[in-house]
Amino acid sequence: MKEKGLLIVLSGPSGVGKGTVRKEIFSQPDTAFEYSISMTTRQPREGEVDGVDYFFKSRKEFESLIQQDKLLEYAEFVGNYYGTPVDYVKETLESGKDVFLEIEVQGARQVREKFPDGLFIFLVPPSLLELKNRIVTRGTEPAHVINNRMTVAKEEIEMMNLYDYVVENDQVELACDRINSIVVAEHCRRTRVEPRYIKMLEAE
Ligand code: 5GP
Repeated sequence: MKEKGLLIVLSGPSGVGKGTVRKEIFSQPDTAFEYSISMTTRQPREGEVDGVDYFFKSRKEFESLIQQDKLLEYAEFVGNYYGTPVDYVKETLESGKDVFLEIEVQGARQVREKFPDGLFIFLVPPSLLELKNRIVTRGTEPAHVINNRMTVAKEEIEMMNLYDYVVENDQVELACDRINSIVVAEHCRRTRVEPRYIKMLEAE
């Protein structure tokens, strides 16, 4: 029996550059994982192709997919549905290939519940880690702006605790290198590798 692939989930706060990082990873010729193309009800942007960038669906079609349990996760984001097709993910993992999802945080939370042993990577803007210090020490903003930014920063930092790794998106190439290294390391994790060796010894 083939060993199952790894489910890799890239998520993070809105506007952090998840899409850019994902596109850069998949433009590299030696990328070995499969991108799971999402479904969405939003209109295609110029240059986007159905079945390549997204599967573009009507709201009715999307809601019917929800009802038929065809989505591994879904979320409503800025007035549109986004979701991951469950059959594609399961079949690809079964075939032994790694699957890569690039999704927003509500969806990532749902995937964590269904695939607790997936690899969850949280992409952060470079300033996030310093944001609090900077906001406070700078002291130039009006109090309500500071408070707002602190609330957002706090919510974003709290979202981290669902994830296994945090990657700073300071430069796209560096962020991609870090993600690729994390995936390599994850494949070497003892708890993932051990069953293979146990089976080997049992077969002796
Ligand atoms: P955009 O409309 O800019 O392509 O994507 C908007 C947001 O939806 C991004 O944060 C993107 O990561 C997220 N997204 C894309 N596909 C999915 C999906 O299948 N599920 C969820 N939950 N979010 C998605």
